[in-house]
This record gives sequence, structure tokens and C-alpha cells, in this order.
Amino acid sequence: MKDIIVQKFGGTSVADTDKIKNVAKAVIKEKNLGHSVVVVVSAMGHTTDMLVKLAKEISPNPSSREMDMLLSTGEGVSIALLAMALQAQGCNAVSMNAMQVGIFTEKIHSKARILEIKTDRIIQHLENDEVVVIAGFQGITEDMEITTLGRGGSDTSAVALAGALGAKRCDIYTDVEGVYTTDPRIVPCASKLKEISYEEMMELAYGGANVLHPRAVETAMKYNAPVRVRSTFKTDDLGTLILGADKMELQKPVTGVASDLSGLRIVVCDVQDNPGTAASLFDGLAAENISVDMIIQSYARKDLNTNDIAFTIDRGDVKKAMAVIEKIKPDLNYSAVYVDDEIAKISIVGAGMIGRPGIAAKMFRTLANIGINIKMIATSEIKVSCLVDKDRANDAVEALHTVFGLDSDQIADVKGDLPNI
Ligand code: ADP
Ligand code: ASP
Ligand code: MG
Repeated sequence: MKDIIVQKFGGTSVADTDKIKNVAKAVIKEKNLGHSVVVVVSAMGHTTDMLVKLAKEISPNPSSREMDMLLSTGEGVSIALLAMALQAQGCNAVSMNAMQVGIFTEKIHSKARILEIKTDRIIQHLENDEVVVIAGFQGITEDMEITTLGRGGSDTSAVALAGALGAKRCDIYTDVEGVYTTDPRIVPCASKLKEISYEEMMELAYGGANVLHPRAVETAMKYNAPVRVRSTFKTDDLGTLILGADKMELQKPVTGVASDLSGLRIVVCDVQDNPGTAASLFDGLAAENISVDMIIQSYARKDLNTNDIAFTIDRGDVKKAMAVIEKIKPDLNYSAVYVDDEIAKISIVGAGMIGRPGIAAKMFRTLANIGINIKMIATSEIKVSCLVDKDRANDAVEALHTVFGLDSDQIADVKGDLPNI
């Protein structure tokens, strides 16, 4: 059996039929190097955004089952078109959706995790010398319900397939030339990284660097699978290699800066300072599958025996979260709840900050110097995140990128437009 390479092409890379023909060339090039090739594709261009828009025109609150049924159709179009493009260029190819492959997930709509991937049918096709083109982003449950993995989830489909198939490499082809020190659409002088560790990439991805789906990095780390992020439009460039930290030499304290506008903050005021208060709030949220990101509980005022709990969640979960908070009002006995959706989380990430004091202070000073107020702070060993006003997010990223010495003297090459829907 030849070595298997998994190639994943994102929405911009398959945005129109000419681009799909171009992708077919890149696939054939890889096959001609003597590899068995499995390709994972996203929906064409901004198709998924358009499908979301259609659903919202029908109902403000569509059921999550039907949402997944709808969104999964986007990838169905691109797999068939790419398989046709490959066949038209003389390459044997077959398209498969998640049901045909057997990509089994949890029964959680819109953000399901992959549980198991059946590889037998893929292997059969590869042994027939066919390229197998698989729909990203979608899965099925044991009882044959369609699920999706969350926005940007095709990256995770690709890495999980690479892991299950024992692939030699997983190449994520996209509209930039690799992973940069920050989003090159925000800071055009961002520097391209030759390599980055799984740990740092995971913090950047959870921090909002949508060049890779966070769970794709988690999966790559689990399988210790080498992943490259590279450009569809410059296939000779090797892009950025994501690998274990032990293989890397650390230089700068900060490797990258990320911003995340997808969250909102909820503050529950004057809850009782008793054992079990936080537990009942976060148990309630967990029961609704709501992931909580930053959490701050204020210092308790001894005279009142109360404190405030503030936390951030994905803005798509706010209705469910408010229903939970309303339901547990008798237990929590809070005085008020505030929702702040004008927020951005700004993170600096770097394995090199371990054992170097003053990095967080430098971040706070830099934000203060440009008049940015910090609403919440969270840290890990290799990350410092600050919640700031959404309209200052780009100023914060630019200033931090400069102060931590990440600016390049070259302008990044970025293809495609941002969705405008
Ligand atoms: P695809 O459709 O190929 O999956 P995405 O739009 O999901 O592409 O991801 C690529 C985009 O990620 C880039 O166009 C860029 O704007 C954005 N991005 C955010 N942070 C980074 C970063 N640190 N490095 C590179 N790109 C980034
Ligand atoms: N098409 C899906 C999305 O737009 C999945 C992906 O592109 O990774 O989120
Ligand atoms: Mg993506």
C-alpha cells in the first residue's frame, strides 16, 4: 500500500468551477508523486453563510436538526464537482459523503465531535487507484441523523481522516500561504511562520485564528499527525508545519496574536457566596451543551455575602444560556443579569513566555497606552487573553503585534474576500 496523503481544500479554494479545476490539478500532482490521495473539501465560497441566511429568512429559531440537514448540503455539491473535475482530467475519482464513509459523531447538532471513522470503504477505493473525495464538516450519528462539526469543521474532518487512515501527512490548503503571526487580513505585515507547535496553534485557534479549526489541532495532537497549512494558489510553497513542541527551538516569547469576535459576556450580579452556586450555574449551562470560555468570580463582599460571576460564551448560545439562568433564579437569587455583546477577546500566545516574567504586564501596558480598557483577563502557561471593546479589537492586535516584535517587512498574500452577508 502506498503512503496516504490527505489534502483539504477550503471554501475559497473551491469557490468556482475554474478554482475546482485548479484544485484537481493540485490533487493529480500529489497522486503523481506516488501517493494514495484522500481529499476533503468545504462548501464552495460563502455557500454555508448563504444557507444560514436562507434559514434565518424562514425562521428566527430554526431547529438544530434541520439546520444540520441544510448546512451539510454545501459540501455535497463540492465533492461531486471535484470528482467530476478529476475524472475530466483523466484521474479516477469517487466522491463520498459522511454517511457513505461512516464518519460517526456524537448526537449533538451543529458542533458534534467525531467518535469513529470507518476506513474500509475508503481503502477499497484507494486500492482501486481512485482518489477519494470526502465531504468535510458533516457526520452521522449511530441512528443515522446528520450532524455538523461546527463552523470551519472541515479541517477537523481532514485531520481525523488522516489519523484514522494513518496518513503520512495532512495538508490544509487555504487562501493564505500558511499560519501567520496574526491574521494577515488585519495586519498585512504579519510574518509567516515556518513551523508552530500543536500547543501554540491550539491556543491561537481557540483564540480566534480561524485558519485552523481548534478541534483539528486537538485531533492532530492526539494522533501526533504532521499537519501543513499551505496555499492552494502557490502549491510549491510548503507553508507552515504544525508539530510537537519538543522538535522546535524557541526564540521569541510571543509567537502570535489572535482576536475572537464570536463571544459575548454575561454577568450575573449578587449571587450568594455559598458552596454550590457556581456549580449549579455551570452545570445548567453544561447540560445545554454550552461551552464557557473565560470565567471571573469577583471577590466576595463579606458584609453582603454576595459576589458577581462573569463569563463568556459563543454568541449563538445566548438564548439557551439566558433560559438556563432564568430557570435557576430561585437557587442563585441574583439581583440582575447583564449581557455585553460588544466584546472581543485578544490573545497573545507563545511557548517562549514560560519562565519569562513581564509578558502579561507588557500586554496590559501596551493596551493602556492606546486607551483600551481591559474587561476580563485569562491566562494559561503559554497564553494571556484580555477581553476588550469590540471596536478596538484591530487596534489592540496591531499594537501587540508590533510591541512583541512580530511585524515583517513583507506584505502577506491573501486571496478571496471576507463574507459580506
Ligand atoms: P478556508 O475556507 O480555506 O478554511 P478560512 O477562512 O477558514 O479558510 O481560514 C483562512 C483565513 O484565516 C485567512 O484568510 C485569514 O484571514 C484567517 N486567519 C486568521 N488568523 C490567521 C493566522 N494567524 N494566520 C493565517 N491566517 C489567519
Ligand atoms: N463549510 C463549513 C463552514 O463554512 C465548514 C468549513 O468550511 O470548514 O463553516
Ligand atoms: Mg476554515
